[in-house]
Amino acid sequence: MVKPVSLLIIYTGGTIGMKHDSGTGTLVPFPFDNILDEIPELRKSGFRLNSCTFSPLLDSSNISPDLWIELAKIIGENYDRYDGFIVLHGTDTMAFSASALSFLLENLAKPVIFTGSQLPLDSLRTDAKENLITTIEIAASLRGNKPAVPEVALFFQNKLFRGNRTIKHNAEDFKAFQSYNYPPLAECGVHLRFNYPAINLPQSGKELKVHTKLDTHVTILRLYPGIRQEVISTMLNVKGLRALVLETFGAGNAPNESWFLGEFEKAINAGLIVVSVTQCAEGRVEMGMYETSRELDKIGVVSGYDITTEAAITKLMYLLGKYTDRNKVLEEMNRSLRGEINKG
Ligand code: ASP
Repeated sequence: MVKPVSLLIIYTGGTIGMKHDSGTGTLVPFPFDNILDEIPELRKSGFRLNSCTFSPLLDSSNISPDLWIELAKIIGENYDRYDGFIVLHGTDTMAFSASALSFLLENLAKPVIFTGSQLPLDSLRTDAKENLITTIEIAASLRGNKPAVPEVALFFQNKLFRGNRTIKHNAEDFKAFQSYNYPPLAECGVHLRFNYPAINLPQSGKELKVHTKLDTHVTILRLYPGIRQEVISTMLNVKGLRALVLETFGAGNAPNESWFLGEFEKAINAGLIVVSVTQCAEGRVEMGMYETSRELDKIGVVSGYDITTEAAITKLMYLLGKYTDRNKVLEEMNRSLRGEINKG
């Protein structure tokens, strides 16, 4: 007899696992062990579905790097027992969590698919059921006898994306996520259509490595016209800060006034890593295209190419947790580890 596909659903919190309390009407998490009663359609799937639940359940605004590590460990400990993993997560910080997990899980050869919903399960027009059911189907899909999507991915509404390429781009639409710089890994209408050339395949013979260190001595600075010197100086001089993601204008541009460049030059010479990412949702940093980015290049700001802010900050946490050598971190920032950048 063929063994049924087995999937572990890890419920971290968020709207997807909530119902309105019959007394107060507020949204409260429901016991996830009852999922088959809530979504009886799942019984027809024929898959072996087990679940585990975070305690306490989290609004994803309360997610933290420690919980990313916990999530990675759960996947690592259960890796041989399941064919794939589904992470139910609040939408607000899902793109950060999916990015972080992509770095923590090296040599991944099974699907780890994040999903959530904009409306709770008991709302008449809920998107929770469809998102969960399709995610389960995707996680169980095979190409030949191998998982179709051996990546950390994120499914929402009708598209599957590489997790570390996503951003939450809409707070109310059912189409809450986008991956502007990388094509969808699958489009799901009547059929599940996988975009196989876009899906990363694992290197054969390499075992899963679960990383369990993240260094949070990092920050993000978004530029705006009129930013004051003391704001920049305060941020650059935060005690213990090791890296900063600089959200620059357009194709990686920033003021070329001497006070501005001077502040950054001083901090970089003292060892700070500064990575330039574009504020635009789509497109890339091209250092040197304009004078206003050539100056950044000269003082040692490095390009994040087409990386998202979410992937850049979590990649830095991961690399700083792994290496003490600044040059090694710079070298790794400059290459794609899990398909998070395309240097163009
Ligand atoms: N605030 C919720 C969260 O991110 C929203 C959601 O689940 O979509 O946990």
